[in-house]
Amino acid sequence: MTPSLKPKLTSMKSFLCFLLFTCNLLFLHAQVFDVEPIKVTGDNDKRISLVIMGDGYTVNELDKFITDATNFSNSMFSKSPLKEYADYFNVYAIKVPSNESGADHPGTGSTYFETNWPVPTTNVDTFFNATFDSFGNHFLLFYEVDGNYANNTEAKIINVLADNFPTYDQALILVNSPYYGGSGGTFPMASTGISSDELAIHELGHSLFDLKDEYYPGDLLAAEAVNMTHVNNINNPRWNNWIGTDNVGVYQHTCSSGNCSDWYKPNTSCKMEVLNNPFCSVCKEGIIEKIHSLASPIDAYTPNNNTVDNLTFPLDFQLNLIKPDPNTLESEWILNAVSYADNVDDVSILETDLAESTNTLTAVVHDNSPFLRVDNHDSLHVYTVTWTINYSSLGVDDIESKMNNFNISLYPNPTYSILNLKFESSTSSNLKVDIISLDGKKVKSANLSSYENTQVDIGNLSQGVYVTNFYSGNVLIASKRLVKN
Ligand SMILES: [Zn+2]
Repeated sequence: MTPSLKPKLTSMKSFLCFLLFTCNLLFLHAQVFDVEPIKVTGDNDKRISLVIMGDGYTVNELDKFITDATNFSNSMFSKSPLKEYADYFNVYAIKVPSNESGADHPGTGSTYFETNWPVPTTNVDTFFNATFDSFGNHFLLFYEVDGNYANNTEAKIINVLADNFPTYDQALILVNSPYYGGSGGTFPMASTGISSDELAIHELGHSLFDLKDEYYPGDLLAAEAVNMTHVNNINNPRWNNWIGTDNVGVYQHTCSSGNCSDWYKPNTSCKMEVLNNPFCSVCKEGIIEKIHSLASPIDAYTPNNNTVDNLTFPLDFQLNLIKPDPNTLESEWILNAVSYADNVDDVSILETDLAESTNTLTAVVHDNSPFLRVDNHDSLHVYTVTWTINYSSLGVDDIESKMNNFNISLYPNPTYSILNLKFESSTSSNLKVDIISLDGKKVKSANLSSYENTQVDIGNLSQGVYVTNFYSGNVLIASKRLVKN
């Protein structure tokens, strides 16, 4: 993928040169800037693309912007679990030049902060209009506030992204100011001051990873989330599995006003509460689950449809995986419903392994990271590649392949009676689930359709532990422990 739209427009221009007038309009409208790769680990369509734009960098300061963006990226990917999953991300920088250097500081924050954390008063013309003292908050560096240069800046940000990197997953604005400050929201903004990188990573915790603040964020922002739960759910919060480890508990929020006593958090020292601290275990798990929902660990596989050219034995099948560091991915290879190999990236199938007719080879990949506790957790990501091998006495006719992604959820767990089963997959429409007792008997079975909730009543089963097995076709792709109360 070309990181800049410029070459695309150029080729479009050569194709559509007879539409010269239209092309001129396109060029007038689009603001095309240089896009520089900061960290590229693979194809953009297989990675999460983080795009950094600068504000308050003049043309002569764009090299400094690239250095600042690189430093930010290095800082972000030194923090667990982003460190372990760094290969799931690409980072690019759009070199947006500003007319003047720095950020606005009107000096309208509270006297206490203005005095103790002094910032010179400035009023500069910058591309995205970064302004300290937004909403009267000295450290709130935001783009949509002061009247001097603000002019619907969010629309401007969206246009720059559309014209320069339309396939971004998350964008961030780095502001060329040495003073601490930043803001969250759709497009987090942070200065290059001390700890502002920490602030930006905290804000990405909201905008990219759906985490809540673990200080009380106020009644308007309080909601059920990975790391926030309502008093009604404190006996079975989403982080139930972590309670008692890594200082995870169920802690009531505190505040000076509002309904904070209705809301609870898993930790008291998470980066979502205190900058420079690590993410708590619950937030780490949430971050990894979001990464898994945005990017498959299967980067590529062979043979892929239409690339099969040499059908001689042994037949080689290979996965290219995006491995966390250390690698926590596990794979199982299943040939005609029988386990063939475990935790290898490739297998070689012999002619004697195949039945005369249609053979099915499936590789099932999931992440067994210790950061994930999926037993009681309500979400499980599984990825498969299935090859259909048509074999007869004349040899192999053809090999068809298909990749599937599944996000499976099962809740509540434990349950007294009703069990909700659901899976999301854009690539597969059906799953079968069997509930098995510990003595190996199938006690319930149900068919699931993608994106539909299916309820199974297990009220008549005796109390204890069961295993739920999820099958795609006749291949077991996931097992989860289920507790009946
Ligand atoms: Zn946390």
